[in-house]
Amino acid sequence: MFELDQLSPSVRSLKPSATLKINEESNQLIAQGKSVIKLGLGQSPFPVPEIVVESLQAAAREKDYLPVKGLQPLRATVADYYRGRTGLGFSSDSVLIGPGSKELLFNLQMACQSDLLIPAPSWVSYAPQAQLLGRQVTYLPVSAENRWQIQPDQLDQYCQSNPSKTRLLILNYPSNPTGCGYDAASFKQLAVVARKHKLIIVADEIYAETSFSGQFQSLAEFYPEGTVISSGLSKWCGAGGWRLGLMVFPDELRPLQDAMAVIASETFTSISAPTQYAAITAFTPSSAIDAYLEASRKVLKVISDYMVSRLRDCRLEMEAPEGGFYLFVSFQKWRAMLSRKGIETDETLCARILDETGIAMLPGSDFGMTADQLYTRMAYVDFDGARALSAIGAGISDNFMDEYCPKLVRACDVLSEWLGNK
Ligand code: PMP
Ligand code: GLU
Repeated sequence: MFELDQLSPSVRSLKPSATLKINEESNQLIAQGKSVIKLGLGQSPFPVPEIVVESLQAAAREKDYLPVKGLQPLRATVADYYRGRTGLGFSSDSVLIGPGSKELLFNLQMACQSDLLIPAPSWVSYAPQAQLLGRQVTYLPVSAENRWQIQPDQLDQYCQSNPSKTRLLILNYPSNPTGCGYDAASFKQLAVVARKHKLIIVADEIYAETSFSGQFQSLAEFYPEGTVISSGLSKWCGAGGWRLGLMVFPDELRPLQDAMAVIASETFTSISAPTQYAAITAFTPSSAIDAYLEASRKVLKVISDYMVSRLRDCRLEMEAPEGGFYLFVSFQKWRAMLSRKGIETDETLCARILDETGIAMLPGSDFGMTADQLYTRMAYVDFDGARALSAIGAGISDNFMDEYCPKLVRACDVLSEWLGNK
């Protein structure tokens, strides 16, 4: 009835998104009775803050289609939030609400006739989205030595050698998969290059509020005229399944924002009304949200410190993250040993570790690395976030990890054993 060659060519070569696929595979294994430690999908382990849940309940009867660009009071609240964070003159007109930032990122690429520039490694979906739209993707390789930051010279050289194109660059910080960010000095230098080449930059700040220090600067502060901020409720508010994403545009990019609203008007119309009402509470400053964020950051930092230290003890290499819930781990020091066991690529590495230990994670090649570089991404989210949050208020006990994150402790034990046995 339907042959594969009837599929549109841009879809034919794509596979299901790696993050969602590993989650489904892990769940299938669990359903078959296998024990799996889920370090694959990067989903917030924390519950949605209670005051936000209550707002959602209170808004359950909101049933009308909402404005395409988003509920006006939500857009105003989000603008206040970003005005406070960046000192820039955003208004509700600057804000666009959508069904997850993932869809907004796709629609932005659709609206903007440009090739895509991303660091390697980068989050798994930027490049496939470009491919779906038939756009060229250029990876700019970044390295652990530079804490995975794009170098201004590198960006300048690339742009100089490709002068005629509109360029869209996506920068994500703290980064999925590395957890690394940028400081003000690097942003300043990048802004000079961006201005020189008139780059459009999407600052994917979806992990901003998880920065362990609680401090966060936006590229928009340094390059306001060309930066679109992208975020949402999925990571810091524990609400991935609510599917609320947002973008904040400078006046200079209003035509791009308007074109995205046209796409929205012909596709999803507007996102779920109760969710938009509840999001007003999430973006309104309150002591409840502050306490939730402070506790989440503490938990994530404790876990990150523990995992980094344990994994480094196993001769695995990684940069210590500044936020988010990922580690980007190099197995290069084990290359010779792994090769003797027939493991030459990161995919085989992840498949063998899943099969032999039950630890699910993703290969670096899903993030734009080459398979022989032997990187993996571990999402350290397999713990009961609600329990951990309520415990951390009383301070960090010596046995915090054993008590509240036993699967993560086990992942380190098992991996150490597995490597030791090679
Ligand atoms: N950007 C990055 C870096 C991500 O890790 C994710 C994954 N959730 C997204 C964007 C998309 O998030 P959402 O669609 O849930 O807003
Ligand atoms: N962003 C999450 C991750 O990188 C998962 C959600 C998604 O990919 O849509 O694992």
